[in-house]
Formats: sequence, structure tokens, C-alpha cells
Amino acid sequence: MFNPSKEKTYMPVQDANVRNKNFDEVSLGYDCNSAINEANRCLNCKNTPCVSGCPVGVKIPDFIGKIKEGKFEEAYEIINNTNTLAAICGRVCPQENQCEKNCVRAKNGEAVAIGRLERFVADFHLNNSSDDNIKKVASKNQKVAVIGSGPAGLSCASELAKRGYQVTIFEALHLAGGVLVYGIPEFRLPKSIVQKQIDHLISLGVEIKTNVVIGKTITIEELKNTYNYKAIFIASGAGLPRFMNIENENANGVYSANEYLTRINLMKAYKETSDTPIVKANKVAVVGGGNVAMDAARCAKRMGAKEVYIIYRRSKEEMPARQEEVEHALEEGIEFKFLTNPISIGKDSNNFVNKIRCVKMKLGEPDASNRRSPIVIENSEFDIEVDCVIMAIGTSPNPLIRNSLSDLKVEKWGGIIVDEETNATSIESIYAGGDAVTGSATVILAMGAGKKAADSIDKYLSLKK
Ligand code: FAD
Ligand code: SF4
Repeated sequence: MFNPSKEKTYMPVQDANVRNKNFDEVSLGYDCNSAINEANRCLNCKNTPCVSGCPVGVKIPDFIGKIKEGKFEEAYEIINNTNTLAAICGRVCPQENQCEKNCVRAKNGEAVAIGRLERFVADFHLNNSSDDNIKKVASKNQKVAVIGSGPAGLSCASELAKRGYQVTIFEALHLAGGVLVYGIPEFRLPKSIVQKQIDHLISLGVEIKTNVVIGKTITIEELKNTYNYKAIFIASGAGLPRFMNIENENANGVYSANEYLTRINLMKAYKETSDTPIVKANKVAVVGGGNVAMDAARCAKRMGAKEVYIIYRRSKEEMPARQEEVEHALEEGIEFKFLTNPISIGKDSNNFVNKIRCVKMKLGEPDASNRRSPIVIENSEFDIEVDCVIMAIGTSPNPLIRNSLSDLKVEKWGGIIVDEETNATSIESIYAGGDAVTGSATVILAMGAGKKAADSIDKYLSLKK
């Protein structure tokens, strides 16, 4: 029965003052009734504007139609045909800028909660299915190497394994998942969910070799010539942090967001039992306005900091972070200092950070990113007392792989150049995708690139036989 409500069906969340002291998941998800209730808000538009907003073209009205009928497994099958990481994307995709942005219901009220419904269906499937009876497809006897186990690598490996290739993922860290395990915190994306996706891959026959740094432990030449991999997909991400190059950025207590988040998420520094040390700060400044900055700030709060500031040089409207993360951060007591930019860091005689000096900004004309450019207001310097600074101003691809392959064409900023149609690099049999190509982007775009590369590798190897 059609639900005329202008608002999304409520999804329960942990209370802000409770959750800002623990690492458990913030949003608790729909139950069957609330999912059906929300699905009944969908108009089943014939021209499917939501689908054109989804980077991988999930058949949104079709899966929502199945939820209306209570056929949740069938809904899952529809999503899974185009998105193999639904439980993850339902949680972290910036839906407000993608599928939900185009939803007709948003013209007079809130969009249908497509992300929440996707999450519900994927969780239902994960909780009610098992990988025990998965049939491995007969092997094609051709080996493919995937470098990196983030969403790009996982989706490429999954597609190729389903087509019978012998796929090995090589991962530099000790745990597979890329940013999904070392970057995005447990309270936004429980690691058990990522692990289930990885277990599913293993049940498809994919081999995962961790603690292997391609370009160091094994070279790409060795992958081809010694280990006989017939095609290679580079999905090594963009994990090299950028800094501002301001005074005292190397003081104790200044972290890149990547290091700070890795210590907390991958190495579990928030647990008493963890061997990994992390600074216990009282006043923390996080510089940046994206998802990474929100995650770092919300982790700092959970680590016990009394005051946590987000320092962002533009205004709230220009912030690239997901809307939900910004709202959750505000509720949890994070203080936003908009139109503010750091110019130096202060330190004490023991080389520990003790303040951050900032200037006030105003907004000028739109720049290349189409956002209004920030301009310094003269004589507006002021200090904020802090004992920890976290830099979350972006990352770029690690140079290791490109430095080990002289024929690999790359952009000046380090991104690997690929053919847009096929994701083929300048070297035959080597493909690339995800953040390693685009620079820091999104999970769904990385996943889509992995899928596209798998199609191209399949075509390439089929012709080679
Ligand atoms: P990655 O996920 O970075 O994975 C690359 C993997 O390759 C890593 O595990 C790395 O260890 C490995 N690797 C690198 N070099 C080598 C080598 N030489 N040999 C072997 N292995 C190697 N996106 C969203 O859509 N929504 C969000 O809410 C969101 N939040 C984010 C929060 C944080 C903190 C961060 C850092 C990113 C966030 N993103 C978000 C962006 C998103 O996670 C990335 O765009 C996505 O993970 C890119 O996927 P990828 O597979 O290309 O690379
Ligand atoms: Fe349903 Fe909104 Fe998509 Fe229309 S645009 S089919 S209402 S989700």
C-alpha cells in the first residue's frame, strides 16, 4: 500500500552521547516492517531517474518492488547483479549526491531512503544465507593477479572468479579490505561485514596473499614471468597522505589522518589489549572537510578528547563529506570552524604540539572544482590550543608501483592513465582502476572500475587462448 509520508521512515541510531564513547555501529538499520514501509514510498517511476544517478546502475525500483512484496532474497539478487558489495555501499555511498538526488519524491519531501533499503536487503541476505553450497566455476586454467584488496580489487577478483579464472589478490597489509578496514571506522562500517564479503570471495576460489608489497616483495615482472599471471589488475588505491607543508608539521602529536585511522581501525588502538600506541589527546584539531576528516574527528572524540575541532577553509555548503556524517559529527559534539585555514603549528620545548595558528577566510568566485575559492582575510590570525593535529587534506597514489614499471604512463600527480572504455594501462595485459587511477574517490566508483576491468581482462584472455 502506497506510503504518502514526505519523510523517510526512521532508522534507529545509538544516542549521540552514548555512541561518542564507543566504537559500535551508529546506525542500527531497518527491520522488515520499516523496510516495507519505506519501500511503499517508492512510486516505481517508469523513467527510473534514481538508476541514472547510481554509478553502477543498480535496478532500484525493481529491488524496492521486491521489498514491497516481502521478497527480500529476490531483492538481494537484483542488487547483487550489479553491486557485489551492497552491505558496504548501503552504509557508505554518498546517496544524497547519487541515486537519492534524482528521486522524484525529493521534489516534495525527502527522497526514498534507497541506501537504507539497500543496506537492509544486503544484511538480510548476509544473516540468512551461507557460502557452504557455493559452486566454484570450472577453472579456465588462466591466472590473474590483483594488486590491492580494496573495493576495486575485491570486485574485479569476484567477477573474474565467477568466470572461472584463477585469481590471486596480493595485499601489502596483514588484513584484506583496503580503506574498508584500515580507514572507515567500525562505527560506520563494522569489520565483520567486510570480512563476510572477503569470506565469500574465498569461497568463490579467490586466493588472498597478505603482507606482500608488489614492487618490493615481488615485482610485476616476476608476477608475469616467474609466477605465470596472464593479466594483472592494479588496484593499489591512493594511500599516500598529503601535508600542508606548514611550520612544525613534524611535531609530536601531528598525524596524517591515514596513520591516525590505521592505528585505530586496523590496529585497534582503542582496545586496552592493543599493542599499538596512540596519543591520548584532550584537544584535537582535524584539518579538512571530507569523509576522512569526519572519521578522524569522530574517532578522536571516541578516544576521549574533550574538544574536537574540524578546521575547514570553506563553508558547510562546500564540504565534500557525506551529509549524514556531518550531521552525526555535529550531534556527537564535534565543533566546526568553517572559513578557517591553518598557517602554522606551535610546539613546546619537548617538541609536542601545543597550538595551531589559523587565519579567517572568505569565499570568492568558483574555482576549477566548481566550489567557491577561499580567500585569506588579512590580519585575521588567531590561535587554538590543541595537543593533537590530524591532517585530512587528501591523499595521492603511492609511487611504488609506478616507479617499478618504467613503461607505465601516469598523470603528473601520480594517477595511472587508463583507457576509459577498458581500464587498460599503457602496458599490455596490465589493467588498473579505483583510487590508483582517479585519486581519492568513492567505494562505488572503485567497485565499478574493478568490474569494468574484469570484463576487459575476460575479453583479453579469451582472445589469447
Ligand atoms: P583502497 O581501498 O585504498 O585499497 C587499496 C589497497 O591496495 C590497500 O589495501 C593497500 O594496502 C593495497 N596496496 C597498495 N599498494 C600495494 C602494493 N604495492 N602491493 C600490494 N598491495 C598494495 N568512500 C565512500 O564512498 N564513502 C565513504 O563514506 C568513504 N569514507 C572514507 C573514509 C576514509 C577514512 C577514507 C580514507 C576513504 C573513504 N572513502 C569513502 C573513499 C573510499 O574508501 C575509496 O575511494 C576506496 O576505498 C578506493 O578503493 P580502492 O580499491 O581503489 O583502494
Ligand atoms: Fe522510486 Fe524515487 Fe526511484 Fe522513483 S526515483 S523509482 S520514487 S526510488
